[in-house]
Amino acid sequence: MNLKRKVLVVEDNRINRMILSGILASEYQVLEAENGQEALNVLKECGEEISLILLDILMPVMDGYTFLSHVKADPAYSSIPVIVITQSDGESDEVTALSHGAADFVAKPYKPQVILHRVASIINLRETSAMIHMIQYDRLTGLYSKEFFYQQAREILIQHPDKEYDIICSDIVNFKLINDIFGIQAGDQLLCGVADLYLRTVGEEGICGHFNADQFACLFERRFDYSEEMFGSWNDQINTLPYAKNIVMKWGVYSITDRTVPIEQMCDRALLAARSLKAQYGKYYAVYDDELRSRLLREQAITDSMEPALEQGQFVIYLQPKYRIKDNQLAGAEALVRWIHPEWGFQSPAQFIPLFERNGFITKLDQYVWRQSCAIMRQWDDKGYPLASVSVNVSRADIYNADLSGTLMKIVQEYGLSPSRLHLEITESAYTEDPGQIVETVGHLRDLGFVIEMDDFGSGYSSLNMLNDMPVDVLKLDMKFIQSETAKPASQGILRFIMELARWMKLSVVAEGVETLEQLERLRDIGCDYVQGYYFAKPMPCDEFEPLVKEQYAAGKKQKPQKTASAGHGECVLEDGLGRDYLTGFLNRRGLDTAAKALDKKDSPLAVYLFDFDHLQQINETYGHLKSDRLLADFSEVLLSHTRGNDVLVRIGGDEFLVIMKHMRSEDSALKRGEEICRAVREIGTPDNLTVSCSAGLALWNGEDAVSEMIDRTNEALNHAKTDNRGGCCLWGRTKG
Ligand code: C2E
Ligand code: CA
Ligand code: CA
Repeated sequence: MNLKRKVLVVEDNRINRMILSGILASEYQVLEAENGQEALNVLKECGEEISLILLDILMPVMDGYTFLSHVKADPAYSSIPVIVITQSDGESDEVTALSHGAADFVAKPYKPQVILHRVASIINLRETSAMIHMIQYDRLTGLYSKEFFYQQAREILIQHPDKEYDIICSDIVNFKLINDIFGIQAGDQLLCGVADLYLRTVGEEGICGHFNADQFACLFERRFDYSEEMFGSWNDQINTLPYAKNIVMKWGVYSITDRTVPIEQMCDRALLAARSLKAQYGKYYAVYDDELRSRLLREQAITDSMEPALEQGQFVIYLQPKYRIKDNQLAGAEALVRWIHPEWGFQSPAQFIPLFERNGFITKLDQYVWRQSCAIMRQWDDKGYPLASVSVNVSRADIYNADLSGTLMKIVQEYGLSPSRLHLEITESAYTEDPGQIVETVGHLRDLGFVIEMDDFGSGYSSLNMLNDMPVDVLKLDMKFIQSETAKPASQGILRFIMELARWMKLSVVAEGVETLEQLERLRDIGCDYVQGYYFAKPMPCDEFEPLVKEQYAAGKKQKPQKTASAGHGECVLEDGLGRDYLTGFLNRRGLDTAAKALDKKDSPLAVYLFDFDHLQQINETYGHLKSDRLLADFSEVLLSHTRGNDVLVRIGGDEFLVIMKHMRSEDSALKRGEEICRAVREIGTPDNLTVSCSAGLALWNGEDAVSEMIDRTNEALNHAKTDNRGGCCLWGRTKG
């Protein structure tokens, strides 16, 4: 093997050639050519293997200068150094040679030692500079290498202290995919295209670097108004390159204000800004600023502590009740996770779920939540007060888990529950993202018996057509949708339309985010099936939820048919569950209608009372619905203990109760009974020693007037009580005039 470097001697004179070859042969492998044309042929064959060319000027066919211009014009050979042989030490010859791109010259007659030295030093120079070039420039793209970029950037900043500079870094989200699908070569080609875009965009005034794989950086004088359109159009340009299939490039901008920050860190920050967009669809760039900085720090802290937090049980399940709207029965709960961090305190999901969805931890956390939810149902089942169902959230990342159905089945079986007890809430937008995958996975879950709820319905853009093919049991209306739609006049029938659609598709509908009575009534009017929202209760810890389930269970057992108008009607009402108030077990308005029809003259004289709390609204606002619910339950106990078995007890709405007592002896004893009840209410103990009171209106019925007329009278009397006898009872007729 010949390791000698190759030197090409171009000289028409045979003797001269021999002399030169003789001088060089000890150190180099010598190739010879008789004229420029022949020399070009040798170059074509050996190309860059040649370390140096020794060139005579005066030659037939193609002279030395012509040859030299060919060599310098061809990028493949232009870097090969050429030493020109001049006829004498004449200065003009030397200048001409150098100006044609020669690296050096030697004069005739040949001085062997001079020639050997010059050749050696020129070859050496070239090789060193080539090595430097290799370190300075990225082999693939020709952009600056990382180290050299840093060095040049530092240099620029020092030399232009008065100018303002930005660093932009970028990173291709799905680059690995390109390599995987099209091969490394295609990936390389794409990177070269990106490098081109960088060079074109940054121009002469800036510098561009290729760091590693798909990361690029540039530094230039601040001149852009950054906008999504601008970066979006760059992204579009990249997508016109060969092999660019749905490439998503994210850009991060670091505006240099503090020049004491090391360049490396500036670039890191720009890259962090770019990466912070990883899962944000349609966002192409982010500027690194204090806000991003603290967000990234925070995210880092969350990422560092999430695993131990899960092990240490810092993630806690809260339950938010769902009620069946037609009878206000507690129908289930949604499990919502909370993070009780020993230092940061109570963390709501918005603070960590989006991050977990990006870093993949959501899969682990969700499985924990599913397990806990099943554990709770098991516990309550064992105590004898079962909760119909618990809905859990299934994140889109879970759907891509290869064995989602296996995981879920294992969990419900472990706790001896049927899959139908676990409702799976899957957000609408997941359905639109990859319909194929969703239909398959979710369809399978549904076949296994899980109840599928489409969460946040109305927030995305699922077409009705698509809905038809989706494996779904329940539509869960997005709360923003509820809140905006219920604010519009009833005639704007989107909600009603959805309800009809749902009915037609045999889906039930849950409305979430119900915050006001008006919203509830609207939803009731249009026939919504279930409701969930702050109007009823906020999500609460499981031990606070337990009494609700217990109460529900007790109310179910306590329903006493004899407390209604007549046993026959009462039972009918009970049987179908209609006409009952879930909280008190009393009749509701609908139940009253039925009971009123059943009233008979032989029950008279009847005392009809209307009770209303004096400050419930205030109690509601200060202490929440749970406390006021408790209060209403206590009040119902008072009423029960002051009435007889065949009296009629009705919760008309909110805090209004109608009581019909049969066979009342006299006006006086009716009034007395009313006052007794009001007094008992004032004695209801509340944990906070609140004073609660109610007022009552009373009217007596002789069996002649219409019941509705009676209720109007009690209302009138109640108004009197409120103004003249607050906390007491007024009789219609006595207060008149
Ligand atoms: P989501 O599934 O749509 O849950 C409903 C959110 O609305 C809950 O917020 C709930 O507290 C809140 N909410 C309920 N009623 C009302 C109301 O009347 N008014 C208002 N303004 N808000 C109401 P939360 O608990 O903060 O959860 C936020 C989101 O975090 C959830 O939205 C869900 O997407 C996600 N999330 C919560 N827990 C989990 C979990 O265990 N796994 C997964 N994957 N996501 C979860
Ligand atoms: Ca949900
Ligand atoms: Ca939702």
